[in-house]
Amino acid sequence: MNIILLGPPGAGKGTQAARLVDERNMVQLSTGDMLRAARTSGTEMGKIVAGVMDRGELVTDEIVIGLIREQLEKGGDHGGFIFDGFPRTLAQADALGALLNELGQSLDHVIELQVNDDVLVERILGRAAEAVAAGGTARADDNEESLKIRLMAYYKQTSPLIGYYHAKGQLQSVDGLASMDDVAASIAAVLG
Ligand code: ADP
Repeated sequence: MNIILLGPPGAGKGTQAARLVDERNMVQLSTGDMLRAARTSGTEMGKIVAGVMDRGELVTDEIVIGLIREQLEKGGDHGGFIFDGFPRTLAQADALGALLNELGQSLDHVIELQVNDDVLVERILGRAAEAVAAGGTARADDNEESLKIRLMAYYKQTSPLIGYYHAKGQLQSVDGLASMDDVAASIAAVLG
């Protein structure tokens, strides 16, 4: 079973993905995590993505599709993939469809976590403050400036995917403002 978790930054995709990994032996494919790993690797690609990410803009489709392709081609024995933070553009959505098709796999559910902007800003700036309070450093893009750009990127480039998957009859929406356990229960109900 392969699923997409769709929603703006701070919607709770990562939190819910982690639970699905524990409970269903699924594999989380977070392009954000992959890109954060790439930027610390010191490679040429890492240097390019670092600046883009810190500004809150989207990395090119080519780069993220390449990262996803690598992971999908690895295969392995697990409960399926959770796409978290991917696809983020219509081109990425088409590429994912083609890739899964090529590998003889299906996309089983697209779950949208519905939230509102006030909560997102609160959650993300809260997450940054907590990281600093714990003696660490906040994500370079968890500041008000980048967050505005990330939200705009979401509305301009990613939210069209809601219509795209709705038209394909694959979209299911859950209330992302509920408690973590309630969101998990709603997702479990969709997955069966
Ligand atoms: P968020 O929690 O803000 O959604 P992510 O960890 O998913 O953050 O992504 C952080 C940043 O990594 C994005 O702002 C963007 O620069 C880059 N990124 C992640 N996934 C993608 C993608 N699928 N396409 C383009 N850029 C991406």
